[in-house]
Amino acid sequence: MKTVPEYFGCDVFSASVMKERLPEETYKELQRTLETGHRLDLPVANVIANAMKDWAMEKGATHFTHWFQPLTGITAEKHDSFITPKKDGSIIMEFSGKELIQGEPDASSFPSGGLRATFEARGYTAWDPTSFAFIKDGVLCIPTAFCSYGGEALDKKTPLLRSMEAINKQTLRVLKLFGNEDVISVKTTVGPEQEYFLIDSDVYHKRKDLVYTGRTLFGAKPPKGQELDDHYFGAIKPRVQAFMKDLDEELWRLGVLAKTEHNEAAPAQHELAPIYATTNIATDHNQITMETMQKCAKKHNMVCLLHEKPFAGVNGSGKHNNWSISTNTGANLLEPGDTPAENAQFLLFLCAVIKAVDDYQDLLRVSIASAGNDHRLGGQEAPPAIVSMFLGEELTSILEAIENDEAYGAKEKELLKVGVHVLPRFPKDTTDRNRTSPLAFTGNKFEFRMLGSSASVAGPNTTLNTAVAEVLSGFADELEGADDFESALHSLIKRVIRDHKRIIFNGNGYDDAWVKEAQERGLLNLVSTPDCLPYMLHQKNVELYTKHKVYSEAEIKAHYEIKNEKYCKLLNIEVLTMIDMTKKDILPCVSRQIHELADTLLSKKAISESIDGSYEETLITKLSTLCASAFDDVRKLEECSKIVKSIVESDAAAFYYKLNIIPVMEDLREAVDEMETLCPSDKWCYPSYGDLLFSVK
Ligand code: ADP
Ligand code: MG
Repeated sequence: MKTVPEYFGCDVFSASVMKERLPEETYKELQRTLETGHRLDLPVANVIANAMKDWAMEKGATHFTHWFQPLTGITAEKHDSFITPKKDGSIIMEFSGKELIQGEPDASSFPSGGLRATFEARGYTAWDPTSFAFIKDGVLCIPTAFCSYGGEALDKKTPLLRSMEAINKQTLRVLKLFGNEDVISVKTTVGPEQEYFLIDSDVYHKRKDLVYTGRTLFGAKPPKGQELDDHYFGAIKPRVQAFMKDLDEELWRLGVLAKTEHNEAAPAQHELAPIYATTNIATDHNQITMETMQKCAKKHNMVCLLHEKPFAGVNGSGKHNNWSISTNTGANLLEPGDTPAENAQFLLFLCAVIKAVDDYQDLLRVSIASAGNDHRLGGQEAPPAIVSMFLGEELTSILEAIENDEAYGAKEKELLKVGVHVLPRFPKDTTDRNRTSPLAFTGNKFEFRMLGSSASVAGPNTTLNTAVAEVLSGFADELEGADDFESALHSLIKRVIRDHKRIIFNGNGYDDAWVKEAQERGLLNLVSTPDCLPYMLHQKNVELYTKHKVYSEAEIKAHYEIKNEKYCKLLNIEVLTMIDMTKKDILPCVSRQIHELADTLLSKKAISESIDGSYEETLITKLSTLCASAFDDVRKLEECSKIVKSIVESDAAAFYYKLNIIPVMEDLREAVDEMETLCPSDKWCYPSYGDLLFSVK
């Protein structure tokens, strides 16, 4: 058996494989292309394609695919085999440079928000050589970007790569001012911690809501949930252990740095954290991770639920996006340094993130918005929908001292002057973690905690990168023109702290008092997806993206359209599923139950009028009332579904769902859940929450 170091990355056409298999000149040419970002020449691509095919075939692959991330949020692939017919009727296996560089998936059914209609009917995929090709289920997967023929991005990867370029450019300007002549490029880094649920597939398949929508639309609370905190970091069950072992192995083969696996707060909930990587690689790897989790779970007769809120009443799942900026020389720009100069540089980057988060709270909120995530945010289990930052007491006091020209700490006699003094040491405390903060500074990186578990990390990182790039560009403009760099830097930092400290909040984000205080501070509280999406079109936000060439105006409008449409489509499926379950299973089930109770009551009374029938009578009355109420809600939902179909604008439709449909869905659920508690367990039409949450032994 091979050891982990021996098989790690064995299914990846990595830099070392390329170096070994490509002619020296070709390898150098590819490196040059990667550095300059130019397109690859066809003859060079032909050589690479051929080497890739030979390598893939040795590993048993027969097909290739351009693997891309359309705006649906999941990955897409269309398999083509390598076979090419010869004149004599036999075949050879071929893969050309043209096929490697560019593909033309029949893209007509991917969402384009009107982009393809405006520009060109079809889209094309283009190889992203910064992310390595890999083999998955016997198919050579080539990571690609997906664009319309007009060059508009139809995927999540293209804007992400553009945002990385934007932050690279602006960071280099700032680094130059600090004399970092050796740095030639910077990249953002991301380590996404992924939460998920595992349940047994037999019970899963008995729940239409899970099958159709990924979450339970009904379900009375079980007697035991997560209140004892006995699942969090608890011993991992053997079946889950076997799954995790398999998962790690598969991920390691694909070069994914899966590192930590543990139980999460809710029963049946788990987490996987990888070691961080460059943002676009981390994004690809997170997509691969989610897909592999689902595949591996199936092998173990389980289902992996990636939905943000599969079960009401227990924690939902998120994805913590650990983010930082690294130079090609290996420096982490969010790591406090030891010298006055290093400290000053750290403080400037810290301030850049503070200002960026404050200026673009709305876009950060938008970047994590989805129908699923609306169930978590603000639910006392995930950060609130209000964007704020946690810096910890120490660092906050240091910033206050700078802002107010005060001495910091007991020993400090002098005022803290940026660029002159070494920062007082502040502990990188990992125990005193604020779990309720949307964006927490954790010593040398920021942890963005608002992301939903099922979404791609591309969007939030595109926003974060671009917002910080914009702030850095303003900083660079100001500092490049300064006569005295040090004093200009000091006053810039002071000003940023003064103007943006409202975004810093170290308290309890679950507290109702925070909602009030945040409002007084003028922070946004965009509670739902329809509430936040319109901010995408605000002038300042359109200017941000277009200035840094991350999204064109047409792309922003298209993405706006797609996000609204997706919200409506998901809710429509949920509504139809609720109607179907109620009409076909729940009401008939309760009706039968009432019948049985009535029969019993009649029999009792036939024996003697004096026998007590209060149990049956009370239940019959309760169930009948609840049935009528549920039936009424179903009719309302049917009516509303008709109305919402006639609303042409997708944003108006999204609001209609929020205001008129979701409240009825909640009413219906309440009635049904109460009926479940009143029916015998063996007669209820679906596995209960207890059956689901404790299904994996
Ligand atoms: P903590 O103790 O703060 O939880 P960990 O070292 O456990 O930190 O890291 C949590 C996640 O953050 C991991 O995925 C890790 O790889 C990632 N991470 C660590 N450093 C960085 C960095 N510089 N940039 C991005 N992610 C990072
Ligand atoms: Mg975490």
